Amino acid sequence: MEVIFWLRILTAIWCLSCVLGGRLPVYDYSDLDDDFYSELRNLLDGNAERKIKQQNDWTRAHRVSHPREVKGWGSTLNLGQVSGVSVDPEGRPVVFHRASRKWDHTTFNSTHHFQGQGPIDEDVVMVLDPQNGDILKSWGKDMFYLPHGITVDQKGNTWLTDVALHQVFKFTPGSEKPELTLGEAKTPGADDVHMCKPTSVAVSSTGDFYVADGYCNARILRYNSDAKLIGKFGHPGMDGSSDAMFVPHGIAIEETRDVLCIADRENKRVLCVNAGLHNKDNFGHSVMRLHDPNHGRIFDVAVLNEFLVGVGGSSTDGAATGFTADLDAGILLDAWGPVDGFQNPHAIAVTPDATTIYVAEIGPNRVWKFLLENPAEY
Ligand code: ZN
Repeated sequence: MEVIFWLRILTAIWCLSCVLGGRLPVYDYSDLDDDFYSELRNLLDGNAERKIKQQNDWTRAHRVSHPREVKGWGSTLNLGQVSGVSVDPEGRPVVFHRASRKWDHTTFNSTHHFQGQGPIDEDVVMVLDPQNGDILKSWGKDMFYLPHGITVDQKGNTWLTDVALHQVFKFTPGSEKPELTLGEAKTPGADDVHMCKPTSVAVSSTGDFYVADGYCNARILRYNSDAKLIGKFGHPGMDGSSDAMFVPHGIAIEETRDVLCIADRENKRVLCVNAGLHNKDNFGHSVMRLHDPNHGRIFDVAVLNEFLVGVGGSSTDGAATGFTADLDAGILLDAWGPVDGFQNPHAIAVTPDATTIYVAEIGPNRVWKFLLENPAEY
């Protein structure tokens, strides 16, 4: 007891010095789980000016760019539920939306079989003008039943997941016929050739790729560049262990660190594991966690240089926000969003030159553009 007492005294003295020195104390969010979203709330609540200033000081010190909303961008877009956003090699945002289709309690039966009508008879993939959000090109009519994730890889291939078809598709640049299809149409399953509501794809520069599968199986499938399944990681669960996931909803890869980060949505955490690119035997080993058991769900993550950006929460839980975290230490660095706040942010993407972030929301259905301020200009 005495040791704990003195530890608390020392911690209090240390944190006071942090405040006086203009720095925020550094928390280990993998252990002090509750602090993740309580810090977000502190940053976002009405009387947080002082804390935001401290955070900005600390952010500046660590050269983290702060995302600022580009007002009015994309406001004339008329889209359905925007489930996915990515950026092509030319820096153009590409979104995957559901047009007139909506996902509600009648969409699936208890065995995850789609109960709706035929394919969506409108274009659902939109390439947007980065300057003003105008639609430059659209495609995907009469092909998809319930769009979810979109990833445009470094070679310009477009990867799409459809949760009603239980399939993943790869389209080469300019093609509207899939070069690759994984899973069996409208047939949910958990073996090596079936998926169940797959959510997201991440592609490495070598062509190896990962699929988050997904709402029901809660696993990550790893394929080589020939689309051969070479690894599996994870299972459904809420026990807090490093391989128990509850809707892996968005994934992103950081190749320098050989890390794959997963928005483990219903467990309200980000889980980063070894991607196994350098050593395949390490695939799935836990590397870093950001976790909070009591507040906001994490919907998607993306890599921004040596940082991780993400979106989570919703207007109903009061925690809808974008956030920036340190990829190595799992430390929350910044909370951000549009001036009027997010409501249901669902997906996030970063441009290849790391100057811009796009966020897609479902309800209201829209796309946001954020410019990353150069830390040198603070
Ligand atoms: Zn979703």
